[in-house]
Amino acid sequence: MFWDKKIETLKPAELQALQLKRLKKTLHLASNVEFYRDRLSGAGIKPSDIRTLEDIQKLPFTKKQDLRDGYPFGFFAVPLKEVVRIHTTSGTTGKPTVVGYTRKDLDSWAGLIARNMTMIGVTDNDVFQNMVNYGMFTGGLGFHYGAEMIGMTVIPSATGNTKRQIEMINDFGVTTIHCTPSYAMHLSEVAEETGVTFKTLKTGIFGAEPWSETLRSTLESRLGVTAYDSYGLSELFGPGVAFECPERDGLHIWHDSYLVEIIDPKTGEQLADGERGELVVTPLVKEAMPLLRYRTGDVTMLMEDGCLCGRSKKIARITGRSDDMLVIRGINVFPSQIEHVLLKIPEVGNQFMVYVDRINHLDEMTVEVEINREFFSGELADLAKIQKKVVKELHDVLELRTTVKLVEPGSLPRFEGKSKRVIDRRGEIF
Ligand SMILES: [Zn+2]
Repeated sequence: MFWDKKIETLKPAELQALQLKRLKKTLHLASNVEFYRDRLSGAGIKPSDIRTLEDIQKLPFTKKQDLRDGYPFGFFAVPLKEVVRIHTTSGTTGKPTVVGYTRKDLDSWAGLIARNMTMIGVTDNDVFQNMVNYGMFTGGLGFHYGAEMIGMTVIPSATGNTKRQIEMINDFGVTTIHCTPSYAMHLSEVAEETGVTFKTLKTGIFGAEPWSETLRSTLESRLGVTAYDSYGLSELFGPGVAFECPERDGLHIWHDSYLVEIIDPKTGEQLADGERGELVVTPLVKEAMPLLRYRTGDVTMLMEDGCLCGRSKKIARITGRSDDMLVIRGINVFPSQIEHVLLKIPEVGNQFMVYVDRINHLDEMTVEVEINREFFSGELADLAKIQKKVVKELHDVLELRTTVKLVEPGSLPRFEGKSKRVIDRRGEIF
């Protein structure tokens, strides 16, 4: 099941030749951007210095902060007249990052989504409900146009009104859904509460936040779907950068469109296949906003083995964004690890919040989790027992003492877009 078999299965030599040709073109485009002109001339690099793919290591990195500093259109390499769409990325502080697209960019992007969805067996016979934000966030329109390109029947339901979403899935015979994994969980909870089962669903595409294998099996059994991981980043078009094939063991990244490096985030040195580090991507087909060596902040590795499906090298599932990573008393903690632990404890639900405080100069992590309805007897002795169990299980995995607070079912916030489960209060002055 290939959308573009020739390009998806290029032999290494052919692929590298194409990558080099496109890298040179990208470098040429980037020289229209003042930031890159300054950086390249500052480092004494001329475009003609890039003769092989290895020469990419001579190029400077681009960081998220650079893009913020270029607000709004500082990274556009074409006149605004040629930019046919603008998206922004959710900024946690200050101004968002702006990304722009030429008409060809939009086509390239939709084509990548079409590759992804065809790879998992989705066709023009499928009905697709796209339950993500259609606004400035790239997830909505990104998948929308890719699905239309395949010829699927697309329902742009966006977010909100979960009961209506469930109704549409069953009324319209939806076979394929796309949303964040946390919203998928919420959807399954609401369906269960209202006694609804899904009869036509087959495929779930979940992305925009890191999620665990345990959550995958939970979602699969609750929704009756096969669940696939989707990875993207607005700075690299949006969703569709990498995607699981039916093997579901790592994600195919489209090497003709994205030149991938894994680096040691501290030294900036390239790491070998099989070594975990920060994903750095140079997009090779972007026109409006070419980027050189963009540091994604996401942690993964290039997998050493090929894939049974015949496509090229995969990256491992993202274990966390470096900005999601918490350092608690020197120990790295990813919210996905906490989720993984909680999902395995039947006495508690799958919704949780993490609070980090600094008390007497010591980091203290508090995990609030909902108790499962069936275990919500109100007996204090039972509660203490469950609490102790959660503390122990978290400790076994995180090697960290945490405070666990059990709260009533349904009392924690539900997220329809990207979830925000961590409140780090250490930097705040009260
Ligand atoms: Zn594969």
